[in-house]
Amino acid sequence: MLMNKLIRASLRCGVRLQGTSAAAANATDPAPAGGFSFELSEQQKEFQLLARKFAREEIVPVAAGYDKTGEYPFPVIKKAWELGLVNGHIGEEYGGMGLSIFDTCLITEELAFGCTGIQTAIEANSLGQMPVIIAGTEAQKKKYLGRMVEEPLMCAYCVTEPGAGSDVAGLKTKAVKMGDEYVVNGQKMWITNGGKANWYFLLARTNLDPKCSAGKAFTGFIVDADTPGIQVGRKEMNMGQRCSDTRGIVFEDVRIPKENVLLAEGAGFKIAMGAFDKTRPPVAAGATGLAQRALEEATYYALERKTFGKVIAEHQAVSFLLAEMAMKVELARMAYQRSAWEVDQGRRNTYYASIAKAFAGDIANQVASDAVQVFGGNGFNSDYPVEKLMRDAKIYQIYEGTAQIQRLIVAREHLGRYKK
Ligand SMILES: Cc1cc2nc3c(=O)[nH]c(=O)nc-3n(C[C@H](O)[C@H](O)[C@H](O)COP(=O)(O)OP(=O)(O)OC[C@H]3O[C@@H](n4cnc5c(N)ncnc54)[C@H](O)[C@@H]3O)c2cc1C
Repeated sequence: MLMNKLIRASLRCGVRLQGTSAAAANATDPAPAGGFSFELSEQQKEFQLLARKFAREEIVPVAAGYDKTGEYPFPVIKKAWELGLVNGHIGEEYGGMGLSIFDTCLITEELAFGCTGIQTAIEANSLGQMPVIIAGTEAQKKKYLGRMVEEPLMCAYCVTEPGAGSDVAGLKTKAVKMGDEYVVNGQKMWITNGGKANWYFLLARTNLDPKCSAGKAFTGFIVDADTPGIQVGRKEMNMGQRCSDTRGIVFEDVRIPKENVLLAEGAGFKIAMGAFDKTRPPVAAGATGLAQRALEEATYYALERKTFGKVIAEHQAVSFLLAEMAMKVELARMAYQRSAWEVDQGRRNTYYASIAKAFAGDIANQVASDAVQVFGGNGFNSDYPVEKLMRDAKIYQIYEGTAQIQRLIVAREHLGRYKK
C-alpha cells in the first residue's frame, strides 16, 4: 500500500519509480563491474529525488517558522506519510514498503537537509518501531506496525530516565508481574514524540536483584499511550530542533498485558541496544543532511558576498574552509552508507554504526559552525538559515548515544579484534 503511495507520489512529482517493490527493483540491478559500486540503483535515485523535492518544496519554506513557534510539524509529517516518506522500513507483510536501512537513510538525509527538527520527529518513529521490528511476534507487528501504515501515527522509544541516559543499566523504572499483567512504576525523560505517540517501546527493570546482569534484568514492552496511569510532562524547550516534541513521562501503576512483552522477560536490554545498529545509520544520515545544507548555504553565500572587491569565495581562506566542509560531508556520507550497507547484508555493524554516528555528529557541528563563520555577522542572526543549523546540530553528539559513548563502543569493537 505504501509502495503504491510512493509510486503515485513520484508520478505526481514527475519522478519515475521502477518495479513494484524495493527488494525486486534492487535485485534486478546489474552486478557492478569489479564487484564494487558507489552508484545508486535507479529506484534509490528515485527515492532520493522524491525526498529531495519534498524537503525543498514542503520543509525548507516552513522550517524557520516551526523553529520559532516550537509547534509540532504534524501537517508536514502527514504529507510526508501520504507520500510514503515515513516508516519506510515496515515490512510489506504489514502493509509497509520493506525498505532497506540504506534506502531509508537516503530519504533521511534529504529530509534532514530541509529541517532536522522535523526529521527527528519522523525518525523517532523508526526508533520506537525498531524493537518491535527486530523482536516482535507476528501479532504484535500486525497490531502496532500495521496501524502506523493505515494512519499517520507517531510512536516513541522510552528508555532514558532523569538519572540514567548513557548508563542504561542504571534505569530504575520497575515492572512487576501480577497475574497476566505487569505493573509499571517509574519516570522517563527526554522522550522524542513523548506527547504525540500512539504507543511506546518501554524498557523497565523486571529483575529487582541489583546483582542481576543488565542482559537479564530488563524487559521491553509495547505500551499503548492511552493506558491509565501514564502522565505526559510538559514539552521541553531545547536549544535546537525545537519543533520536535521532547517530554518526560511518568508511569504510575500502569498495567501492561503480558502479550505486550517483546520476546521474553529479561530480553529487553539486548533488544533496546540491538535497535541502535539499525537506527544509528539513519541518525548519521540526518547529521549528514544537516551538514550538506550548511555547506550549500555557505557556498551560495560565498559566491555572492563581496569584500575587498571580490566575492569571498575567491579569498583562499574562505575557499579552503569550504573545501574542508565538503571533505567532511563526503566522508560522513560514506560512513553512514557503509554502516547501513553492512547491516543490510545481515552482518553485525555495531562498529560501523558507531563510527558513522560519532563522525557525522561531530562534523555536523563543525560544518554548521563554519557556515556561520562564512556568513560573518549575518550568520549570527536568525534572519539567515545557518544559526538554526548550528543549534540543531548539537543534539547529534548527544542522543542515541553521546559522542563519548560511541567512542567507547568503537574502542571496544576495535580492541576486541586484536585481543585474544
Ligand atoms: C532532544 C533529546 C531527545 C532525546 N530523545 C530520546 C528518546 O526518544 N528516547 C530516549 O530514550 N532517550 C532520548 N534522549 C536521551 C539521550 O539519549 C540521552 O540524553 C543521552 O543518551 C545522554 O544521556 P544523559 O543525558 O543522561 O547524559 P549522561 O549519561 O549523564 O552523560 C553526561 C556526559 O558524560 C559523558 N559520559 C557518560 N558516561 C561516560 C563514560 N562512561 N565515559 C565517557 N563519558 C561519559 C557523556 O558523554 C556526556 O557528555 C533524548 C535526549 C535529548 C536531549
